[in-house]
Amino acid sequence: MTAQVEFRALRRVFGKTVALDGLDLTIEPGELVALLGPSGCGKTTALRCVAGFEHPDSGAVLVDGKDITAVPANKRDAGMVFQSYSLFPNLNAADNVSFGLRVRKAPAAQRRTKALELLELVGLPSHADRYPHQLSGGQQQRVALARALALEPRVLLLDEPLSALDAKVRVNLREEIRRLQLDLGITTIFVTHDQEEALSIADRVAVLRDGRLEQCGAPAEVYDRPATPFVAEFVGTMNHLAGRVSGDQVTVLGQLLPVDGEVPEDPSVDVLIRPEAVQVTPAEDGRAEVLAASFRGASVRLRVALEGGEVLADVPGHEAVRLAAGTRVTVRLVERPVLVAARTVTVPVPVTETADAV
Ligand code: ATP
Repeated sequence: MTAQVEFRALRRVFGKTVALDGLDLTIEPGELVALLGPSGCGKTTALRCVAGFEHPDSGAVLVDGKDITAVPANKRDAGMVFQSYSLFPNLNAADNVSFGLRVRKAPAAQRRTKALELLELVGLPSHADRYPHQLSGGQQQRVALARALALEPRVLLLDEPLSALDAKVRVNLREEIRRLQLDLGITTIFVTHDQEEALSIADRVAVLRDGRLEQCGAPAEVYDRPATPFVAEFVGTMNHLAGRVSGDQVTVLGQLLPVDGEVPEDPSVDVLIRPEAVQVTPAEDGRAEVLAASFRGASVRLRVALEGGEVLADVPGHEAVRLAAGTRVTVRLVERPVLVAARTVTVPVPVTETADAV
């Protein structure tokens, strides 16, 4: 009940809009891959090409190596869940779940048994006879999930299934989707524009940009070693600090750090620094000042004023007491390779050649 899915040079153009511009990506059997990217980058179009609701202009979708591009949607072995609940309002939960079985002319008793089994699987054992309007948003999405699984598809396609739900329900349901997906071992493509959701649920995160794959990797890889400034920017929070490249090093906040990845032509660059790579130490003669501190559980996020700009820093929660707003501080960056990007001008920190902390 699981399959490999491959997008091969997939291209789809709507009028002047290039939705997919040669997407290449392989999802291994049993894997959950999140398609992540900004609005309009082609995520939904890619998913619909697997479901058969959309047809590429060129390129192919392969399932277990077999080109299914020309196979009609109803002959494909995929179950899909949409952002809006999309249940049939006039059918109760059990009948919604077993709708596909009815189309396939399965006997009523068998349909009911299967529906109850699936409703139990998604945590709704006693809701079989409720109609959609008698269910909460989260419950409706559980029913939609059970319906998508009813025909035992080899691929599960989830198109922003949680985005209409409120925060707490969203987190609960995403954990359940993951548990279910691991139990069933079903190959799953999960479309989202929410980076936290993608990082927390997926085996691998595929970051799309303008209809192409920018990077695909395990969550920690995409976060810690983003392949491009776009990925770095889109996944997690990034500071932009003014820097100056010389050879394979960059001077930023008076420190010399090795550069990772490509270097733009202009030596004046933005240096991309994660908040957790910014170290903040109280110092009476410090040239920087804590502007605000917000508690985030295990860590505290500081907004720190530097000469001419600001930087975000994440420090351990227990340090909050000595880093309250108004505290004079010094700022140093963790010594590790950094990504640089063409200047967008952001924090105009003066670049000095000294190795002193700011
Ligand atoms: P979102 O997160 O906003 O749903 P997405 O990454 O899923 O975005 P798609 O829905 O795949 O993006 O759309 C990609 C581009 O193609 C967008 O610019 C969209 O407006 C366009 N597009 C998608 N479907 C159609 C269509 N049927 N007709 C015309 N343009 C379309």
